[in-house]
Amino acid sequence: MWIMRPLAKQVGWLNIPHSRDESGWGAMHMPISVIANGSGPTVVFTGGNHGDEYEGQIALMKLVRSLDPGEVQGRVIIIPHLNYPAMRANARLSPIDGGNMNRVFPGKRDGTITEMIAHYINGAVLPLADAVVDIHSGGRSMYFEPSAIMHKLDDAAMYQRAMEAMKAFGAPVGLVLTELDSAGMLDTVVEDAGTLFVSTELGGGQFTSPRTLEIAETGVANILKHLDVLEGEPVARETRVMETPDGAYVICRDHGIVEPLVEVGAMVDEGQPIAQVHDYENPERAPSVYRAGIAGMLLIRHLPGIITRGDCLGVIATDLTG
Ligand SMILES: [Zn+2]
Repeated sequence: MWIMRPLAKQVGWLNIPHSRDESGWGAMHMPISVIANGSGPTVVFTGGNHGDEYEGQIALMKLVRSLDPGEVQGRVIIIPHLNYPAMRANARLSPIDGGNMNRVFPGKRDGTITEMIAHYINGAVLPLADAVVDIHSGGRSMYFEPSAIMHKLDDAAMYQRAMEAMKAFGAPVGLVLTELDSAGMLDTVVEDAGTLFVSTELGGGQFTSPRTLEIAETGVANILKHLDVLEGEPVARETRVMETPDGAYVICRDHGIVEPLVEVGAMVDEGQPIAQVHDYENPERAPSVYRAGIAGMLLIRHLPGIITRGDCLGVIATDLTG
């Protein structure tokens, strides 16, 4: 059973040593809040894992202010800006060490700033968690149909719990995602520890919208209600449960200017052109046409006008089967 916790709301920061020319004994102060009361699970919310993804950061700052510990049963740990230096630079990666927070877990105590943050989260925060919700958006280079995300898991009971939590979040799409490369991700260390994990991808493009922010804020509250940390039922939303089977990823083989032919969220047929890439050095050449490898929804698109070989141009999701 859960232990009883005294009523508390602590709003503070993690002290991250940052020795540099301007401040030899300096540090960065990265906000973290803990709101606890009574008995119940510990839920960890993180935003800003990539610094230029803002829905989670805004929703979690609002949660710090609005969550009354008297309403809580359990403990809520809130880290709105997980890659804090990257957020300050409006960037995906840390400007200090180039670190991608979601590729360095479990981190390193005597590593770079990004590795040190990951090490602390992995060693000091995650062991407290009964559930972790990591709120991403597409950032500078991608746009997503707003989605809550889980992964295929070997443990059938945990798969079911993740599916229920993902649906409770209430995004328009619930995606059972196959990652291109899961090494070093926060997702992976949480799931490997047998802890409930839900992620999101809510829009993108280094900006937010009222629609995606509403999805983030409602989703955060829904998760707390779903896990009985807050009273009441989650706001019921229709979530289309999808997956990314073989053929889902459309990878670019050219460098050039990309012309989208399909809007994100639209349904496409197998073989339907979704974009073409123009060779700006050779305007007489016909553009390279990129087609959907499978029928489904264009869930993700590459965002900047310039694309290069190896970039993810688009991803097609299909309704989950089995
Ligand atoms: Zn991200």
